[in-house]
Amino acid sequence: MTDCIFCKIVAGDIPAKKCFEDDLVLAFHDIHPLRPTHILVIPKKHIASLADVGTEDEPVLGRMLSVAQKLAAENGSGDGFRCIINTGRVGGQEVPHLHLHILGGPEPVGPMVKNLKE
Ligand code: AMP
Ligand code: ZN
Repeated sequence: MTDCIFCKIVAGDIPAKKCFEDDLVLAFHDIHPLRPTHILVIPKKHIASLADVGTEDEPVLGRMLSVAQKLAAENGSGDGFRCIINTGRVGGQEVPHLHLHILGGPEPVGPMVKNLKE
């Protein structure tokens, strides 16, 4: 996808603070970190969102999760972390290229989501 910002990072056309790369995935630090650790793990292949995956994507989905513990531990979150995949309008997804947020740091990340009834 030529106009996708994360595809441009994969291609090296725009810079990113990369922290891991293999044949299937790329990880880099979020440009606007919400916690001391805030890393994005993306498939190198353009997949718009978790609503667009098929069974053929299971290897890359598994890789995205299996690298998370290593990246968290290496980047200040050895005592736990949270993974989030925002999906579509309701999920609050802003960048339409599938990405896994890894959030952490020395302190607990906090409540999972706000209860709308409170
Ligand atoms: P989401 O709301 O789940 O789509 O999250 C998109 C994330 O991408 C946000 O946390 C942004 O700060 C992050 N982001 C957008 N552009 C870049 C970029 N060029 N480099 C690193 N992170 C980015
Ligand atoms: Zn893309």
